[in-house]
Amino acid sequence: MIEHMIINLVVVLIPLISLQFVLFEKNTAAKHPGATVMFHISNAAVIVVCMTFPVDFSAGVFFDLRYIPLIISFLYGGIAPGCLTAVLLIGYRLLLGGDGMITAILFTVVAGIVTISQFQSYHLLPLKKKLKKITGLSMGITLSKLLFLFLYLAFTDVISWDLKKAAIYIGYPLLQTAVLVVVITLIENIRHALHFQLQQSEMLNSVGQLAASVTHEVRNPMAVARGFMQIFQKEKYIPEDKKIFLNMMIEEIDRAQMIISDYLSLVKTNSSRIERLNVSELLSSLKSVMFPFALLKGVDLVQKPADNVHVVGDPVKVKQILMNIIKNGIEATPEGGTVTLSAFMEEKEAIIHISDTGIGMAREQLKKLGNPFFTTKSSGTGLGLMASYRMAAEMNGRIEATSEIGKGTHFKIIFPK
Ligand code: ADP
Ligand code: MG
Repeated sequence: MIEHMIINLVVVLIPLISLQFVLFEKNTAAKHPGATVMFHISNAAVIVVCMTFPVDFSAGVFFDLRYIPLIISFLYGGIAPGCLTAVLLIGYRLLLGGDGMITAILFTVVAGIVTISQFQSYHLLPLKKKLKKITGLSMGITLSKLLFLFLYLAFTDVISWDLKKAAIYIGYPLLQTAVLVVVITLIENIRHALHFQLQQSEMLNSVGQLAASVTHEVRNPMAVARGFMQIFQKEKYIPEDKKIFLNMMIEEIDRAQMIISDYLSLVKTNSSRIERLNVSELLSSLKSVMFPFALLKGVDLVQKPADNVHVVGDPVKVKQILMNIIKNGIEATPEGGTVTLSAFMEEKEAIIHISDTGIGMAREQLKKLGNPFFTTKSSGTGLGLMASYRMAAEMNGRIEATSEIGKGTHFKIIFPK
């Protein structure tokens, strides 16, 4: 009896696995063809297993959890697949034969109809209300089935009524409902997580498209305006105290350009050159590019020797990644602090280290690194690291970060040799 109970409890969890792929498929256009079929097959298989191994309470009563996959099939598969599952259930029940066939068939139909009628708006409800509805449905179906069975037996047979039977009659609907609530909660959590991922990737796609179309439209006029400002800066008839404003305007334009390039690095560049890059040279050139920025912030930018370190990747992307991380490091470091660049060769990988003595990050913050739009800066985009993580992955590399609040942050950019 216990074995069968465990079998029942375990198998009802199986469709959870295939459901993940179904949701992916629905949302990302046939990424996993056949996943829906898999979901329905697993549901059907669960029903068969549940019914093959019913829990025998040795009082002439058998119970199983067949309604769970049936209800899930209707709710998360749709009306047609749900009906198919119901037909399968009925077919298998006919095959098994024995007592209570009519009741079983009748209540499968009832369960199907009730589920369909009740759940038009089901998917719009918050989880709590969904669970309430499910509880009502599950209890309603099983209790009325048991009542029916009870009356049926009362009229046809002389039934001996004892405490054990009574306990089963009350316990079974409760058990089924509890399991159903657990399964639905798990399903909803999986859906929620997947939906969140999807939202983010959709957001990114639209950002990418936007960035591509806006670049030329915005960058060129900005460059022209910047050019004229530079000319004015050299004009003698503009008083020096007014030229400060020109400087500010140029700086603001540069900042806007920087934000645009953050967005731009999200647009996938198809031209992917793969080269063997000398990291020492790369760090030197980055150091000179970032030096003015570090100077402005009063941060020391230090490069340690990195002889014979090579990485294989796209030079533009590698530079972009490192620049993003160095820039973040400088921004996070208060005046007088240091940002250190170094690199080492390990057995199979080349590791570039960028560490700062800045404000550091809490564990929660570390987890969010690389998420789109995660920023703690008033004028940040929250796209720099996201783009970096993505570009590193495109080159079979990865980025790891460790940090301590108040002490600093250490980024490791790991590339294949
Ligand atoms: P942005 O720089 O526009 O904010 P990023 O994706 O480059 O976007 O960085 C995201 C966030 O990660 C930053 O806002 C900051 O909170 C955190 N961060 C990144 N690098 C560091 C660092 N070296 N020290 C502290 N926090 C950092
Ligand atoms: Mg940044």
